[in-house]
Amino acid sequence: MIEGYPEIGKDVSALRVTPNLVDWAGQRQTWSWDDAWAELDMPGGLINKAYECVDRHANGARANKDAIIWQSADGNIERYTYAQLKTQSNKVANAFRAMGVKKGDRVFFLSDRIPELYFAIFGCLKLGAIVAPLFSAFGPEPIRERVARAEGSVIVTTPKLLSKVNEIRAQLPSVQRVVVIAHREGKDVASEDVAYSSIVDPASEAFEIEQTRAEDWSIMHFTSGTTGLPKGAAHVHNAIVSHYATGKYVLDFHEDDIYWCTADPGWVTGTSYGIFAPFSNGVTSVIDEGGFGARRWYETIQRHKVTIWYTAPTAIRLLMKAGVELPRSHDLTSLRYVMSVGEPLNPEGVVWGQEAFDLPIHDNWWQTETGAIMCANYISMPIRPGSMGRPFPGVTVTVINEDGTEITEPMVEGQLVVKPGWPSMFRTYWNDQERYDSRFKNGWYYTGDKAKKDEDGYIWFVGRDDDVINTAGHLVSPFEVESVLIEHEAVAEAGVIGKPDEVAMEVVKAFVTLNDGFERTDALLRDLNRHARARLGPAVAPREIEIIDILPKTRSGKIMRRLLKARELGLPEGDTSTLEED
Ligand code: AMP
Repeated sequence: MIEGYPEIGKDVSALRVTPNLVDWAGQRQTWSWDDAWAELDMPGGLINKAYECVDRHANGARANKDAIIWQSADGNIERYTYAQLKTQSNKVANAFRAMGVKKGDRVFFLSDRIPELYFAIFGCLKLGAIVAPLFSAFGPEPIRERVARAEGSVIVTTPKLLSKVNEIRAQLPSVQRVVVIAHREGKDVASEDVAYSSIVDPASEAFEIEQTRAEDWSIMHFTSGTTGLPKGAAHVHNAIVSHYATGKYVLDFHEDDIYWCTADPGWVTGTSYGIFAPFSNGVTSVIDEGGFGARRWYETIQRHKVTIWYTAPTAIRLLMKAGVELPRSHDLTSLRYVMSVGEPLNPEGVVWGQEAFDLPIHDNWWQTETGAIMCANYISMPIRPGSMGRPFPGVTVTVINEDGTEITEPMVEGQLVVKPGWPSMFRTYWNDQERYDSRFKNGWYYTGDKAKKDEDGYIWFVGRDDDVINTAGHLVSPFEVESVLIEHEAVAEAGVIGKPDEVAMEVVKAFVTLNDGFERTDALLRDLNRHARARLGPAVAPREIEIIDILPKTRSGKIMRRLLKARELGLPEGDTSTLEED
């Protein structure tokens, strides 16, 4: 345990609602994925995420229950029941099928959080298409790279974001249609594009879901790896049972909960826990179009009487900065459970929750490739602040040493691994099976993280085992940033690292060397920053660029990002015997 942060005990009988998981050790013994499946429905063998999330409820007692409470950026509210979600997604499915979209096609989404995004995602899943969400703060280059890699045939976007698509469209021959959700912005749609409302409004409300099966593709999220550009981690429809079960037992969904997940569907938390887990459990979700704002967020909880809140450490650190007076001046008594994911949650954050909301914050761990929560601090289980909790009942998570054997001694650092076979496990990196295979060794899936396990099985995050940068819970590939920087005529080489940051955990910092004939001037630096921002967008572009004379490289020519980082932090540089400049 981290010194100064004693375990936070739990009195289950004092909790407002009896948790779905009360006995972690016992339920782990008897757990089976088949039992979880038995609570879902497979009509005629159909396994489809949209069916489990929407039609299953719309065809039954939850038809008139609110699925979505949508809050627009300017605070207007729209509500959609499960029955409406079924109708709207059916209309999308019919409209997209008529447009030529079929099972297995990759449909990309570049949109803010508006209701049509959710209708269209479900509509495409009903068609058997593969949904590929993009983060709206991506610049044209990350969009181009991802769509090209997966040979997307359709991009769904909004007028506000369309210019980024237009910039790269000529380089994307696979894209046959760009569908623009324009009616909310009151904009016209150019003749070469398709207006969402022009095809969805007249479409039929009845749709027979494509006969998808467990192993059919459903969704793909791009994630950053050790080397190269981001890869599309592809998931199958069978993953829905992981979302359902972790929703029930980790997020502790009960019928009357009002749930708010603050993650954007451009990232995996925003789909697995912003869409699949809550809807498969039939709860009501708040979806806020607006961005972060401490006051806005507390007002949102107060206004909608949110009971379960799933957020991220960067947001918690920003809320901490805004002080405890603000939450205390709002009525947040509806809250019964707060969770966080995406980066390590400092023990201070866990404990601050108690000060601000009279509730500790529960950290849990998972990643794009795992598709669903792998270990968690559960509502019924004592929290060890600083730990990511214990494995979910149906999965085996542990730490192993270099030769692949499990580390049994408590608190010894090793590779964090998962036993393959859980339902939401990714099934490939799109068009890169070799890289996928390389993640499985010695009978384990290697997560790329390092961790320790204590004597009671709580897992403690140590750090990443690669150069991937985690900025505000979003992974950034250094290679992707370097590739764009060297496109600039002044740049000879670039090396990109994650620089520690009090709020975002890390920010992207780039070091560049210049081509002959270019001078290190403020004007050049401004131009480099402009170039990076315009091409990569604010989610990926470096926060800082520094021009240096020489980049440290190995004798084989690989840029030593670790050394750049050590220098930046003033740390010992370690073994530099392979260094070129020596
Ligand atoms: P992503 O695939 O973008 O969801 O990022 C997953 C990575 O974020 C993990 O492999 C970790 O490096 C980091 N991460 C996610 N959740 C946590 C957590 N609770 N504690 C520490 N690191 C985390």
